Amino acid sequence: MSRFFSRKYDKLEPYVPGEQPRDGKYIKLNTNESPFPPSDAALGYAAEHARPSNLYSDPDCIELKEMLAAKLGVEKENLVIGNGSDEILNFAFMAFCDAGCPAYFPDITYGFYKVFSRVNGVPFREIPLKDDFSLETGDYRALNGTIFIANPNAPTGIALTPQKIEGILTANPDNVVVIDEAYVDFGAESCVPLIKKYDNLLVVQTFSKSRSMAGARLGFGVASASLIADLETLRYSTNPYNVNSYTQALGIGTLLDDDFSRSRCGIIIENRKKMSEGLEALGFEQTDSLANFVFARHPGAGGEELYLKLKEKGVLVRHFNQDRIKDFNRITVGTVYQTERLLEVLAEILGA
Ligand code: PMP
Repeated sequence: MSRFFSRKYDKLEPYVPGEQPRDGKYIKLNTNESPFPPSDAALGYAAEHARPSNLYSDPDCIELKEMLAAKLGVEKENLVIGNGSDEILNFAFMAFCDAGCPAYFPDITYGFYKVFSRVNGVPFREIPLKDDFSLETGDYRALNGTIFIANPNAPTGIALTPQKIEGILTANPDNVVVIDEAYVDFGAESCVPLIKKYDNLLVVQTFSKSRSMAGARLGFGVASASLIADLETLRYSTNPYNVNSYTQALGIGTLLDDDFSRSRCGIIIENRKKMSEGLEALGFEQTDSLANFVFARHPGAGGEELYLKLKEKGVLVRHFNQDRIKDFNRITVGTVYQTERLLEVLAEILGA
């Protein structure tokens, strides 16, 4: 830390992203990307339609918003577009939390919530999940702050129904409730329709996972027009050109070919089942994941030990060195080949 770094960041511990090795020698099941590239049609559309790079990108992402609004059954005033959904989440911490309005989220969830709290000087409270990592909605009643829930949750993959989330919304009419649906397209039910009924709901989604665009960085928020206006105020106060032209065009191309993304999600869901069955046969215990990853532990091997042995054999998974989950690994669901290779390598390691 230099002597110039602001004191307000004294306690800031930056988010640690999963490893992104530059050589292709690993079977990469550690950061929940899609194993499939976007469709040729989507890539072709982007190559043809991206605004020339000497011009600024459209700060309002109008075409993308119109298409997305039609797809989601909302108005474009209900949408804010971000450089990945992380950016929208950060705007939500900036917009809806402060010293008098803390952030509340589960103790086991997306690690970035803590970092967003700290970087924005927001106090936060982590609410423990139950022993089986399920969320007790009764713990989220009349909280005097902003609630952040990943649904399905990460890294467990466990999802709540929109009915359960409605319970949280009605118990907190004067608080914003942020539902982070990064993994919703792999089998859970979205809360987007609820934005018409609850002006305190912000749903955040991403093109990174189900639409194969992690590297292009595209996410969005859906909410009442007034919540969106607040987020837009912050976006225009930080970086109005937050989404580059190529990414906007690729987003539109991807939406035009949405059946392609849906079919790839179908394959991931099938492979999740195969991976789960294979892991079970090897003696793993798992959560009931509706995401594009599974969360598993083996009674005969530590989480870190397995992570390291897998890495040695060319398979990358994600291990979190956090008390309640240190025996587990989060394993992204990949192609059939990747799944088979993972299971083979695990069988070798476990001597099964
Ligand atoms: N929410 C959750 C729960 C995530 O796991 C991730 C991916 N790391 C994100 C949001 C952010 O995804 P992106 O910024 O790529 O849209």
